[in-house]
Amino acid sequence: MYATFDLDRPGDLAGALALLKAKGAVALAGGTNLIVDVRAGRENPRRVVSLDKLDSLRGIRQAGGKVAIGGRTTVTDLLRSPIIAKTAPALVESARQFAGQMVRNTATVAGNIACGSPAADLVPPLFALDAELTLASPRGQRTVPIASYFTGYKKDVRRPGELITRISWKAPPPRSRALFYKLARRKGDAITVVGVAVALDIERGICRRARIALGAVAPTVFRAREAEAMLEGQTLTPALIESAAKAAAAAARPIDDVRASAAYRRHGVHVLVRRLLGQAWEQLS
Ligand SMILES: Cc1cc2nc3c(=O)[nH]c(=O)nc-3n(C[C@H](O)[C@H](O)[C@H](O)COP(=O)(O)OP(=O)(O)OC[C@H]3O[C@@H](n4cnc5c(N)ncnc54)[C@H](O)[C@@H]3O)c2cc1C
Repeated sequence: MYATFDLDRPGDLAGALALLKAKGAVALAGGTNLIVDVRAGRENPRRVVSLDKLDSLRGIRQAGGKVAIGGRTTVTDLLRSPIIAKTAPALVESARQFAGQMVRNTATVAGNIACGSPAADLVPPLFALDAELTLASPRGQRTVPIASYFTGYKKDVRRPGELITRISWKAPPPRSRALFYKLARRKGDAITVVGVAVALDIERGICRRARIALGAVAPTVFRAREAEAMLEGQTLTPALIESAAKAAAAAARPIDDVRASAAYRRHGVHVLVRRLLGQAWEQLS
């Protein structure tokens, strides 16, 4: 017997936020996590507030050098967007490797962030973009950098009833490259064993901004900040890239589980960070 709950389908954001104030209420976007969890008995919400009528939360826009996407934007929407193709190639790569077609059609970007999984595939590329999240409640809105959003395994700074309405980032400068790699047991429909996103901005041969975001190797997605600092202000060389990759692997806190050992995951970080940084640097040189 599945859990029973009341289902609301408000027609606007204010209505959704008002309903989410009720104790035990949860938001429903694509349902590709929530419904699985309800059916497995891991979640038992009393009230489910569907966001399916909130078209204002779905869409991708670019204005004034900033890209903004609504929280209810789906993974397929990302793949079909020329704006995302131009400004966020690492996000496109993660969307391409995300689940299968049916899940991609309903799974949303905010749902991927809100589920809090360290293996959530869209999150490392959003870290590499320095994305910001807009959180809305009946009291108003606030903006949080994605790098400060997660506080522990499936824990975050979102207050009860708050919705992620928008994810935004500055369009990267022309001489920049961002790449993503998902290491998993198979190519399609698999949970990530190691997820790596890197981004480099280069100016006159010098690395001005480096981002290395790691997924599935710690309780949350995180930035390997020590490794990033080794690259910024430098002309990259194979030796420097190797040192940064080693530092990134040392910063990981992976676990052993059914998919891979901790040692394999750490080795994966080393190899993939070195490979992606080398490719990004080569493409910019
Ligand atoms: C077969 C299968 C394959 C999958 N493969 C992948 C994969 O390859 N990579 C991957 O990363 N994930 C994968 N997933 C997990 C899932 O599809 C994603 O995490 C997805 O992005 C969740 O989004 P959703 O819209 O379906 O969220 P939902 O299931 O609707 O919600 C998930 C959680 O987020 C909350 N939430 C939803 N929207 C908001 C919002 N706007 N603001 C605040 N909270 C919100 C909900 O209350 C709930 O707690 C897979 C799932 C399945 C079933």
